Amino acid sequence: MIFVISGPSGSGKTTLRGRLLKDKELKPRLANPISFATRPKRLGEQNGKGYFFISEEKFQKKLKAKKILEWTEYLDYYYGTPKDFVETQLKKRKHLILCLDLKGAARIKQLYPKNTVTVFILPPSFAALGDRIGRRCKQTRQQEIAQRLRLAKKELLAASKFDYSVVNENLAQAVKDLKYIILKEIAR
Ligand code: 5GP
Repeated sequence: MIFVISGPSGSGKTTLRGRLLKDKELKPRLANPISFATRPKRLGEQNGKGYFFISEEKFQKKLKAKKILEWTEYLDYYYGTPKDFVETQLKKRKHLILCLDLKGAARIKQLYPKNTVTVFILPPSFAALGDRIGRRCKQTRQQEIAQRLRLAKKELLAASKFDYSVVNENLAQAVKDLKYIILKEIAR
């Protein structure tokens, strides 16, 4: 199965994915492809952990060489899922967990319609989302915060197109909800 977690910037997708990957029961069964990204590293981010940070030129080369399964342009930067990793893990019969934007979620569903499960992460409120984006982007420009919020408004409208949605008000509860969805879908 491929579990795609989507939702607006600041909804907590990455934190949730991190928790699921540490879960004793899920850990041995889940693999997490690390995307390529051309955006600058944020303070505290390490290359090869959340992303492989590469130049736009390198990203274009990978696209040409068909090394990227799906990709998106988000606020002038490129993000893409490594194809080889996904294919190898699927051959090993591992389940995958991907954090993608809406375009990526739709593309993966199109590529693997039978075994993709999409989950939309909702913030408890729009104000809470604004707080989270603001806190995270402290070192980034005000302009970027405004752009991310504008995009989030549009993205929230897409929640109903997903197989599931989970409200991330309480982190522990949201992890439980996601774990329940994953185990249920694996067992089907
Ligand atoms: P951020 O800059 O906040 O890390 O990511 C911006 C957006 O790009 C988020 O919605 C994130 O989930 C999405 N994203 C990250 N990696 C990929 C990827 O490989 N493909 C797609 N389609 N979206 C991605």
